[in-house]
Amino acid sequence: MSSRYVVAVDVGGTEIKIAVVDSHFNIYSQTSTPTPKADRTAAETIRIIATQVKKLSTAQPIEAVGLIVPGTLDEAAGIARWAGNLQWENLPIRDLLQDAIDIPVAFGHDVRTAALAELRSGAAQGIKDAIFIPIGTGIAAALIINGEIQSAQGNAGEIGHLNVDGKRLCVCGKVGCLEAVSSALAISSAYAELGSAVSTSTEKIYGLVTSGDPLATQVWKSATVAMSRACEVLITVLAPEVIIFGGGLSNAGEMLLRPIRNDLDSSLTFQQKPRLEIAKHGSNAGVIGCAMIAFDLIA
Ligand SMILES: [Zn+2]
Repeated sequence: MSSRYVVAVDVGGTEIKIAVVDSHFNIYSQTSTPTPKADRTAAETIRIIATQVKKLSTAQPIEAVGLIVPGTLDEAAGIARWAGNLQWENLPIRDLLQDAIDIPVAFGHDVRTAALAELRSGAAQGIKDAIFIPIGTGIAAALIINGEIQSAQGNAGEIGHLNVDGKRLCVCGKVGCLEAVSSALAISSAYAELGSAVSTSTEKIYGLVTSGDPLATQVWKSATVAMSRACEVLITVLAPEVIIFGGGLSNAGEMLLRPIRNDLDSSLTFQQKPRLEIAKHGSNAGVIGCAMIAFDLIA
């Protein structure tokens, strides 16, 4: 059977990832471009995506485009209600893109769509109650309850803004949020403020933790302790069988899971302890889920 193709577009706070994906969910020609800063009307973002889609369409016919974005959304109407890291408010982003490329666009939330990939063919497959937490520029969770991803009209799962008693200012305007301590962006910023003037990637930072660097260790510990506090709340309220970590930071593997597991071992009392796992699709879960919703649209 010959393959069909879609383009998956993941607009993140730091970069826009664009990939061609076939109907067997093989990923081709993955590119990433820095996300335009403060692009409130998304004009520049749309221009970047449309240019790439046009270019990719010359190599193979593209039948649909999947577009996933962070924040609170009206998924049915294709509207980004609030995306702090993108500075978008009430933006009809799906129709803006569809008008620019004239190809059907499937629209979804970045985290819930990545969770769909884990639910259909990854670490949450066959599991009824799970929580999926990708850690990137921001943090949100997909809540899988009784085998279904909960959306609550697009507002559920914004755990990045749980108060974990942090000291840093968050994009939402409050101090104390999980996202301002444990996101990849927060980890890099905290490390830069403590010593190194240049920005250091999180990959480099967890490498430094392994080699015993005290500043990196301090930043990593703050990040994992705060994540444990958030997990404790989620476990107490939702009793998941498994918590799955994804996003760029999940490449740290056991470096990420071990301190959280140890912390939970000492803080949980009566609660059922969930397994902690890394997403099977790793940091590609978003792209694969995005292709899934695009293929669902044309099925
Ligand atoms: Zn916040």
